[in-house]
Amino acid sequence: MRAILFALAVICAPAQTMLKDGQLHVVLCGTGSPLPDPQRASACTAIIANGEFLLFDIGPGSWRKAGLTQLPLANLSAVFLTHFHSDHIGDLGEAITMSWAAGRAQPLDVFGPPGADKVVAGFQAAYSLDAGYRTEHHSAQWMPPAGAKAKATAANSDQPVFDRSGVRVFAFPVNHHPITAAFGYRIEYRGRKVVITGDTSKSKEVEKNAARADLLIHDALSKDMILAAAAMAEGMGQKRQGKMARDIVTYHATPVEAAETAASAKVETLVLTHIVPPLRDEAHQKVFLRGVAEAFAGKIVLAADGMRFDFPPR
Ligand SMILES: [Zn+2]
Ligand SMILES: [Zn+2]
Repeated sequence: MRAILFALAVICAPAQTMLKDGQLHVVLCGTGSPLPDPQRASACTAIIANGEFLLFDIGPGSWRKAGLTQLPLANLSAVFLTHFHSDHIGDLGEAITMSWAAGRAQPLDVFGPPGADKVVAGFQAAYSLDAGYRTEHHSAQWMPPAGAKAKATAANSDQPVFDRSGVRVFAFPVNHHPITAAFGYRIEYRGRKVVITGDTSKSKEVEKNAARADLLIHDALSKDMILAAAAMAEGMGQKRQGKMARDIVTYHATPVEAAETAASAKVETLVLTHIVPPLRDEAHQKVFLRGVAEAFAGKIVLAADGMRFDFPPR
């Protein structure tokens, strides 16, 4: 029993430190895409600052990554959805239910473009039987029904979406046509600025919002690699795979386009995420990053699940 308690204490310590140390922390809990990737969960980025634990997108597999990365699950304050493609929302039910199981007792705020209420209502319906089981099994004292609930709010770009404990979150429109609305988010805390683009092709709105940001976490798809894969699929008679691959190149930025935006915005560090296609080895990484360093002189990071960035107040 002692050994188990010790292990729990070790696991919880970094999370509690991150909540209280006055710094802005960014943890990548999902850096992949809808394509299966053994190394990466789908889209998810955590921000932790001054007692607040915010998640931006919650794609399939990312809630488990959040746990493995020792994030303070019981302290989940809010979830922000960039848009409603399945690779950005698939684990919302897990996040609501398992943060409640970890100790969150009040309804969870979920922000997103118009339509967030429909997405949240769907997950709540799907998980309602489970919620009943848990309260009955563990008692309302330990699993209060309020904690199983989530409250959806449609964000808009006119005012902060979230403003608490000194942490401010702003939404802005990105270009993920034909998906409207799709948002990026800008997070500010004690002189630091982090921008999460969600899915977008090259966008002036991203450039504007990311001006002199400490961290720009940008969508990145290698057009060259995807078009080569499309041609190969078509060569083997796989018309459907070819068509799908050709369709997706138009609504994501390439790594070089993300780098160009980072350069124009004069950001400190560019993180390439939502990696398409999955990169199997170093050779693939090299092809993926071709031209990026020439386009942006700042720090370039190829995102990986579990990566963490810490920003002391400025
Ligand atoms: Zn998308
Ligand atoms: Zn996506």
